Amino acid sequence: MNCFNCSSRQVRIFENIRDMSSKFIDFVKVGSKIVCVGRNYAKHAKELGNALPTAPILFTKPTTCYVNDGGIVRYPSISNDLHYEVELGVIIGEKASQVSEDKIMDHVAGYTIAVDVTCRDIQEQCKKERIPWTMAKCLDTFCPVGNFVPSSEIDPFNTELVLKLNNELKQHGNTKDMIFSVPSLLEYINRHITLLPGDVILTGTPEGVGPLSRGDEIHVAIPNVTEATFHVE
Ligand code: MG
Repeated sequence: MNCFNCSSRQVRIFENIRDMSSKFIDFVKVGSKIVCVGRNYAKHAKELGNALPTAPILFTKPTTCYVNDGGIVRYPSISNDLHYEVELGVIIGEKASQVSEDKIMDHVAGYTIAVDVTCRDIQEQCKKERIPWTMAKCLDTFCPVGNFVPSSEIDPFNTELVLKLNNELKQHGNTKDMIFSVPSLLEYINRHITLLPGDVILTGTPEGVGPLSRGDEIHVAIPNVTEATFHVE
C-alpha cells in the first residue's frame, strides 16, 4: 500500500481491513453453514404465541438456501403460508471454537441484511408433532441476503432493521431489543459449534412477520447502510 507516513502497525491494520473486505464480500460462496436463532425479540415471540426463551433457540439452514440481492424466492408447493422474517446476519471472519464472550467479536468480519424465509404452516405442524423444522426453514432460496458490510459500519447493539413488502412497511425493529445480544449468541453457539470464515449467524426477527404471495417484492434494509430486494415466484 502507498502510505509513507503510516506506522507499521497502521499499515498492518489497513492491510487486514482490505483483506477481510475483499475476502468476505463473497461470504455466500465461502461459508460452511448458516446458524439461526429463533424467538430473540420478545414482541415477535408474543405475536406467534410463544413463551420467552431462557436460552437461545438454535437451528441451521444449508448454504443452498442463499439468494443474492435481486434474486428470486421460490414459493414451495408444499406450503400455503410462506412468511418473511427480516434479520441481522453476522458474518464470521476468523475460525472460532469455544471463544469467550469478551473475545468473540474479534472473530466477526461483518454483517448483512437477511430474510429467514419460513413455511409457517409447516413449522406449526412440526411444533405440534415435536419434529425438526427442516421442511419449514431449509428449502432452496430460503435465505435471501444482501451484501457484505464491514463490522466497522454496524453497531450490533443498536441497528435498525426494516422490511417492506410491495413498498409497504411491515417490519421496523432494532437490535437493541434482542433478548440475547450478538456477542452472547455467538459465545453460546460457539461452545459446541466451531464457526468458520464466511459462516453466517441469523440473529432472530423483530415483530411484524407475515405472509408472502407469488409476485411480491421484498425490500430489506439497514437504513443508510445497506439494502436488498428479492422477488417471490
Ligand atoms: Mg427467524
